[in-house]
Amino acid sequence: MPISERNIQLRMDQFTGHCRERRLTATPQRVAIFQELAGSCEHPSAEFIYQRVRTRLPSISLDTVYRTLRFFEDQGLIERVGSDGERARFDADTSRHAHFVCTVCGWVGDIPNPSDYSVPSPQPQAPYGVIHSVHLEFRGVCRKCNESVQAAG
Ligand SMILES: [Zn+2]
Repeated sequence: MPISERNIQLRMDQFTGHCRERRLTATPQRVAIFQELAGSCEHPSAEFIYQRVRTRLPSISLDTVYRTLRFFEDQGLIERVGSDGERARFDADTSRHAHFVCTVCGWVGDIPNPSDYSVPSPQPQAPYGVIHSVHLEFRGVCRKCNESVQAAG
């Protein structure tokens, strides 16, 4: 499901508003990188974003993309998706939702409104530190990969 122009604009407005409030400079690199994320529901990787942004800003480095993504993450503007092993993917949709990750092809899908899947925080928390958020991730084999496995068998 592609993101509507209206929603992309909304996300960009939130981004520029956030930068203004916190007196962060919206450099051309930051804007271009955020734009890639705002216009995507594919949960792109840093490398993918880099390849896209490079066509507009040829002097940008992969390192700048990594650093900028980490900065956005620290600012709460984006979320990191996927854990272990596979390359991290990023999501400009910071509203409450869960993810489905395909362990074969790495596809990441959104699962909206996971209100039924609330996870209780460990009690007591102290031995771990301070918990800020919970990220719910369902892992398995996506429909496409599952079909091709069945076709092959
Ligand atoms: Zn997502």
